Amino acid sequence: MRASDIQNDLTDVLVTEEQIRAKLDEIAARVAEDYAGKDLLLVGVLKGAIMVMADFSRALPMSAAMDWMAVSSYGTGTKSSGVVQIRKDLDTDLHGKHVLIVEDIIDSGLTLSWLLENFESRGAASIEVFALLRKPDAAKVEVRSKYVGFDIPNEFVVGYGLDYAEQYRNLRDVAVLAPHVYS
Ligand code: IMP
Ligand code: MG
Repeated sequence: MRASDIQNDLTDVLVTEEQIRAKLDEIAARVAEDYAGKDLLLVGVLKGAIMVMADFSRALPMSAAMDWMAVSSYGTGTKSSGVVQIRKDLDTDLHGKHVLIVEDIIDSGLTLSWLLENFESRGAASIEVFALLRKPDAAKVEVRSKYVGFDIPNEFVVGYGLDYAEQYRNLRDVAVLAPHVYS
């Protein structure tokens, strides 16, 4: 679905499908260079990262394993609770692996900093983060993220995997959700 299909539910389109594609190509090239000759494992954080993972992994000019983790920190609201729960753990043993966590967005940073700490104890050779989006003004904790697609304002956005109450994930672009939808 395109932003024009649901115009009344959105205010601004912040990042277009074309901008996302160009950015993924750019970051995929950097990652391939940085991980040349290494055993790379991409870890997607469900469900928000599905679109980034699907497009980023195919933009990557090298082979990489993929695994998924499901955590919850949000429920159906628009504010992070800070309480992280593992809903689905990895199938992969991280020992000796070069792990790249693929995330949709860094908002408060609470989820990722929790995840990084959790992964540190599993014996990975290295752990880095790629987040397509980041809200610098929403940060409650600093997250060391090596690859970031776009810095965006501190507003609730949907699309390209990001949802509000499970809706809008299939929007091609990233857009600000109109407040009337959630208030
Ligand atoms: P955190 O606040 O950095 O812990 O963000 C945790 C998760 O909340 C992200 O991985 C997203 O799945 C979700 N999230 C954060 N900001 C937004 C938003 O603006 N729209 C939709 N989901 C969001
Ligand atoms: Mg997420």
